[in-house]
Amino acid sequence: NTALIEIEGLVKYYAVPRQGLWESQQYVKAVDNVSFTIREGETFGLVGESGCGKSTTGQLLVRLLQQTGGSIRYRGRDVTGLDRREMRILRQEIQIVFQDPYASLNPKKQIGWILEEPLIIHRIGDKQERRKIVASVLEQVGLDNSFLKRYPHELSGGQRQRVGIAAALVLNPKFIVIDEAVSALDVSIQSQILNLLKELQHRHGLTYLFISHDLNVIQYMSDRIGVMYLGRLAEIIDVAQAGREPVHPYTQALFSSIPQVKATQRERILLQGDLPSPLTPPTGCTFHPRCPYAMDRCHQEMPELKPYSTGNMVSCHLYEGEEIK
Ligand code: SF4
Ligand code: MG
Repeated sequence: NTALIEIEGLVKYYAVPRQGLWESQQYVKAVDNVSFTIREGETFGLVGESGCGKSTTGQLLVRLLQQTGGSIRYRGRDVTGLDRREMRILRQEIQIVFQDPYASLNPKKQIGWILEEPLIIHRIGDKQERRKIVASVLEQVGLDNSFLKRYPHELSGGQRQRVGIAAALVLNPKFIVIDEAVSALDVSIQSQILNLLKELQHRHGLTYLFISHDLNVIQYMSDRIGVMYLGRLAEIIDVAQAGREPVHPYTQALFSSIPQVKATQRERILLQGDLPSPLTPPTGCTFHPRCPYAMDRCHQEMPELKPYSTGNMVSCHLYEGEEIK
């Protein structure tokens, strides 16, 4: 499969006040040297505990945030330095769906206006054509024209998220970042929305970056999964290939916490200690204070993300120099 998005050495630092004082600010490395590729038509899942940098990565990809360093190539072209006009063109192709559509949908506007506005901004069609497009996306997300005159607060959580998806679809994008899009919904509604996303992907040949802290949801949706820990990628697992098991100690612990349907029930691995503050990340491998396999060099040397078995990549000294098929 061809690469749609190539992320290389992506870095995002945030300045924060030190002990409440902006005069002596310090930096949080929200995203710290992250590299991966998203292939056309796939769902790349990004998972990790809250604050690990997955949402920041998503917002960097749709250019809601400026990176501190590194590059993002979309169809081979670096998009980190685009001007306003070029950005507007790119905006048609890359979209984002947020966790809380209530926050992203203008509460004072009717759904019909919310869905038509992007078309007006991008000067797509005349009034009649725009109405057709809006009716079509509403139908595609399982709603109908009776929603046109309604306001976001008149909708259920699930209906609001359907509108959020319709708003992302209206410009006919190629790539959508989906950030915790079902986390606020009841489990029964969650599966409806997940299946809708799969159906839309199939229908339009969409590529997704699917962000979630929920491993069940990530596994259900993803072709490949990137596991983030303190702003870095610990591992990339090609779950679409049979028999691809996580090998990074952090991923193993994370995955061991969910019940398995398979016969090979994994033993539950409990993580030692708390997630360290991203303000003072540990030296060397940032996972070393919690890792049951930490060696001397893990305290000093940060492991690099390297190919492991076919399709997988891992960032851990345990697997260096190993060639395993
Ligand atoms: Fe554990 Fe060392 Fe691997 Fe880090 S590099 S995950 S500390 S074994
Ligand atoms: Mg988040």
